[in-house]
Amino acid sequence: MKYSDSVDILIKNGIVLLADFSFKNINVGIKGREISYIGNEEPQAQAIIDASNMMAMPGFINSHTHAGMHLFRGIADDLKLKEWLEEHIWPLESKWVSRDFVKASTELAVLEMIKSGITTFSDMYFFEDEVAKVVENTGIRAILGEGIIDFPTPSFANALDTVSFVKELAYEYRENERVNVSVAPHSIYTCSRDTLKKAKEVSDEYNLSIHIHVSETLDELLNAKRDKGKTPVEYLDSLELINSRFVAVHFVHAEKNDINIMKQRSGNVILNIQSNKKLGSGIPHVKEYMNAGLTIGIGTDSVVSNNDLDMFGEMQDIAMSDLDPQAIRAKDVLAFATIKGAEAWGMDGLIGSIEVGKRADIILIDFKRPHLQPLYNPISSVVYAAHPEDVDSVIVDGKILMKHREMLTMDEEEILHNARAYAERIK
Ligand SMILES: [Zn+2]
Repeated sequence: MKYSDSVDILIKNGIVLLADFSFKNINVGIKGREISYIGNEEPQAQAIIDASNMMAMPGFINSHTHAGMHLFRGIADDLKLKEWLEEHIWPLESKWVSRDFVKASTELAVLEMIKSGITTFSDMYFFEDEVAKVVENTGIRAILGEGIIDFPTPSFANALDTVSFVKELAYEYRENERVNVSVAPHSIYTCSRDTLKKAKEVSDEYNLSIHIHVSETLDELLNAKRDKGKTPVEYLDSLELINSRFVAVHFVHAEKNDINIMKQRSGNVILNIQSNKKLGSGIPHVKEYMNAGLTIGIGTDSVVSNNDLDMFGEMQDIAMSDLDPQAIRAKDVLAFATIKGAEAWGMDGLIGSIEVGKRADIILIDFKRPHLQPLYNPISSVVYAAHPEDVDSVIVDGKILMKHREMLTMDEEEILHNARAYAERIK
């Protein structure tokens, strides 16, 4: 780019986290949806954001959420997954989850995500067409997977109807870069062999990622071995589901052969460590996945099992989850939360790093805070000391969604009011 070329937004004087994970005090220019300039010059700009004492980095990719159940936050805590799901979550869902509930939930979730620096989320829940509208209106980016299970959901009577809907949604948003669609069979214990095969067909036909819970608990692993004579990964591989578009979320109880299969087929893994710890599911074998060269992303899971959408907390917990402090470094988890997450969803050509030509999904972290001083290594500060409240500004697709903590595309008061009104009824 020439010095004389103008930009729409210039992020000035920031410490910029570059694609190779080095950082430099330079300027970043955005034109339209793209990053058009990175350097020391000051191209003419329509708008200037002064990022002095701030770090500009790619926005977080929250690779596993259930945004539509956000209004259940804090309603059922301190339980194991099976009891939590069967005795609390499923009955609550059948009573309360409607199109309107999902809209109100997702608005609250997206508000929380933008305010904590998440610029893309990969969702699995119900009424994903409603979620798509929230994504369109708020300016965030998402990968939306309508949950496919063999029993009736709040949105569909059976798995086949759900699969037809996924095709419609994929077709409707085929040209949309901010609303992406995945196929999301919930798990091997809620989907039959036929349903899983159907999901694979749609994934092949529409080139969609497969978003599925895999080996989340020891029970899931042991039951699969007992009933199918295979681990969940071996079983899914026997159905030919595992390829580079396959995204296994949680993946806590992996055996050696599971990791080999995932490696051979280029399958992707999403870590949800706080959810796993809260539900007593276990700690994922992160070091082994890294050693095998698997592509790893990070998700928060829902706020009913977490209970927030805080990627900083997830990064910290993962980095601190191994007895060898050198096994999983700050830089590794920051990559999982950004570029590696993008790679897991096949979107690394578009997002996940600050590079000319990529979409401008950029967040600013404010280092002018007591808990972020002094500053020796910005990556260390972001991973080990920063909080969601330290996110100063958020840009997605070249549009400013939050500037100096002020929300520009969402009515924060109204969303919080709606959430409180719902909670009054649910109590
Ligand atoms: Zn989940």
